Amino acid sequence: MKNSEILSCFQCGTCTGSCPSGKYTSLNVRRIVKDSIKKDISDQCDLWMCTTCYNCQERCPRGIKVTDAILSLRAEAVKKGRILPAHRVVCKFLIEVGHAVPIDDIHIAIREKIGLSQPETVSKYPKALNDVKILLESCGFNELVKE
Ligand code: SF4
Ligand code: SF4
Repeated sequence: MKNSEILSCFQCGTCTGSCPSGKYTSLNVRRIVKDSIKKDISDQCDLWMCTTCYNCQERCPRGIKVTDAILSLRAEAVKKGRILPAHRVVCKFLIEVGHAVPIDDIHIAIREKIGLSQPETVSKYPKALNDVKILLESCGFNELVKE
């Protein structure tokens, strides 16, 4: 997000009032916008409470790309090694089996019982899985999410 754009925020709170996640978590998107102007907020857990629904971005009367800004702030946080433990687990799954949420043995058994094969996903195809691994390695993803 351009500085000039974010500086046009007049703290109306429309973003916070539109935020479904903020109703159930500590996320206060208006505060994130405000704080991001004056300090490094890459260690704030609230950054990770956003579901990227884009409500705030669509409704901001100043046209500020709020959700895109949150995604950029997250990217910066990850570059500094600041990732929630739960997200590291998801990254690990992606590296190992090509899926953020892999199917487990229980669900494979249930599928077999009702006549369904394994889902048509990358983990069913060793070559495709290997391609994903090469891709993740070559773009630096593995290094980025390392403990
Ligand atoms: S809706 Fe836009 S102008 Fe209003 S507080 Fe949020 S970012 Fe600022
Ligand atoms: S995109 Fe994120 S911050 Fe914006 S309204 Fe949705 S959950 Fe809230």
